[in-house]
Parts: sequence; C-alpha cells; structure tokens
Amino acid sequence: MNCPVCNDVAEQRFRPFCSRRCADIDLGRWLDGSYVIPPEERRGPDTADRDLRTLKEPETA
Ligand SMILES: [Zn+2]
Repeated sequence: MNCPVCNDVAEQRFRPFCSRRCADIDLGRWLDGSYVIPPEERRGPDTADRDLRTLKEPETA
C-alpha cells in the first residue's frame, strides 16, 4: 500500500502513510473538511441493497 498523501511507499510504523508528516497532513485535511470522499464510498451497502429491492419490486400481485 502506498501513502495516500504523497503516494510514496508506506512505512510500517506510520501505515498507511510513509511518514509522520504525511499522517499529520491527512489528519489536517479531515479536520479541515476539505477531504473529498468519492461518491461510491458514500453509498453504503445499505443503500445499494435498498435500490436493488426497489428494482425487483413486483408491479402486479
Ligand atoms: Zn507520504
């Protein structure tokens, strides 16, 4: 796994980051609220399951 901040090789003691510096940067981003979560990760398995059930809902009884 590579460091999510600078994409360098992750260091065991700082996993998943390569250094304390990158870990701090990542933490700062979260606290900032500037960390962008990809849309697909915001959809939990709960939502996907609900969508599937709606599609499979029978129209006639
Ligand atoms: Zn890094």
